[in-house]
Formats: sequence, C-alpha cells, structure tokens
Amino acid sequence: MSRRRRIYEGKAKILYEGPEPGTLVQFFKDDATAFNNQKHEVVEGKGVLNNRISEFLFSHMNRIGIPTHFIRRINMREQLIREVEIVPLEVVVRNIAAGSLSKRLGIPEGEVLPRSIIEFYYKNDGLGDPMVSEEHITAFGWANPQEIDDIMSLAIRVNDFLTGLFLGVGIQLVDFKIECGRLWEGEMMRIVVADEISPDSCRLWDIETNEKMDKDRFRRDMGGMLEAYSEVARRLGIMNENEAPRGKGPVLVKTDK
Ligand code: UDP
Repeated sequence: MSRRRRIYEGKAKILYEGPEPGTLVQFFKDDATAFNNQKHEVVEGKGVLNNRISEFLFSHMNRIGIPTHFIRRINMREQLIREVEIVPLEVVVRNIAAGSLSKRLGIPEGEVLPRSIIEFYYKNDGLGDPMVSEEHITAFGWANPQEIDDIMSLAIRVNDFLTGLFLGVGIQLVDFKIECGRLWEGEMMRIVVADEISPDSCRLWDIETNEKMDKDRFRRDMGGMLEAYSEVARRLGIMNENEAPRGKGPVLVKTDK
C-alpha cells in the first residue's frame, strides 16, 4: 500500500489519497474492535466481506437516489470514494430494542419499538462516543439545523431501504449506524452517506431463528463472526468474488410458511 499517501487510519479502515482530486481510496482491514478498542482481534477475511457488502448497499443506494460517497469498488479490499467532510456524529437508527438502548432504558432486547428512533453520538474515542442531543450539535457547531434535518431524512431513507432489502433475504434489521459527510460540488454542498454499512455497523437477526448475524457475535464472544458475515453476503447474492453484484438481486430465502 506504499503507492498511495495515507490520509487517515481508523479502527477498521484506512483512507488513502485517491487517483483524482476529490477522491479517496477506502481500504477495509480485518481488525475487529469493540468497547472503544478494549477488545481487538484480527478476523481474517472480514475486510473483504465488509467491502463487498458495503459496496452492494451503497451502489444500490446511489441507484435509488440516496446520495453517498461511494463511486466504485477497486478490488477485494478497496473502494473509490468521494472525499467528504465528515460530520463528527454517529447516527444510529433503531427499529427493535437492543444493545445500549436496552441497557440504558431497561427495554428488553427484541422488543419492537413504537416507531423508528434516531439517536446521535459525538464521534470522539477519547470520550467513548457520548450520546448527544440536537442542542449539543448546534451549540457546538458540529452541524447546523438544516444539516440535522438532512441527516435525519437520509437516515430514515436508509432505514426504509435496508429494512426492506434485509427482510427480503430473511433478516431483521434491528438497528444500524451511519456517518454522514458534506460533499462540495462547486458552491453547492449536500449531505451524503459516508463510511460503510456492514455487519460491523448493523444488528442483523435471522428472521426465523433470531440468530445474530453481526458484530454482536464478536462483542459477546459468541464465535462464528466470519461465518455470519459470509451468510449475510450469500443471502444478498454477492458471495462469488468473480461475479459483479450488479444486476443480481437478493436471493429469496425459502421457508415452510
Ligand atoms: N454502532 C457502530 N459503531 C459504534 C457504536 C454503535 O457501528 O461505535 C452500531 C452498532 O453496531 C449497532 C448500533 O450502532 O448496530 C447501535 O449500537 P448501540 O448504541 O446499541 O451500542 P453498542 O451496544 O454497540 O455499544
């Protein structure tokens, strides 16, 4: 990877300078981390799977008019993206109670929420990504009210798209996290979905068995993380490395019902 200048290295990805101005190369590592980096392992092949799954989701979002930073996949571990100014927020959308929501509010895991809930966390590892309100976001200038509106409507569109897509392959979308960025096109700026969407950043449960098919397998020492991610890729119809996902729809999961 010495051919390109490294711009930023995060826990699961590296950003390199892109081939043209305004582009970057996003490299997916095999590192799995949880609990603000206290738990860290290398899971061989995870980066390849997340690259493919995220490519699949982002290219479909582009196609249906949900703007993203994604341009195209380059190889097994890299994708070409547009350079954006990352809004320092983790935007979480929840459909079913789980994780920190269950813990904080005492709502049993698995309970369907009365409506989808959007939460904001300030992206700051030193502080452990604390939850913040719109008041904090606007007071500290992380995003203005119009940008918060744009981020919330993007988050809802992503939730609607992902919920339906995963339901079609027998997976329940419990919750997920997105990051957004400001994309400058001349004088115009618009908010787009950035970063990645993968089983690292979603809770995905098998609709029949409720089996976890996401990073909770790692967080909770359940094992089978790679197998679960592979199964998500397989159900989405993107398992074969030599086949372009374009044109291939989700694979219908047959049930007895
Ligand atoms: N999430 C994430 N990165 C984070 C924190 C959360 O991708 O730094 C995702 C997580 O995978 C889940 C959703 O956001 O799909 C909600 O996570 P939660 O707040 O329940 O936190 P956790 O239980 O993961 O600490």
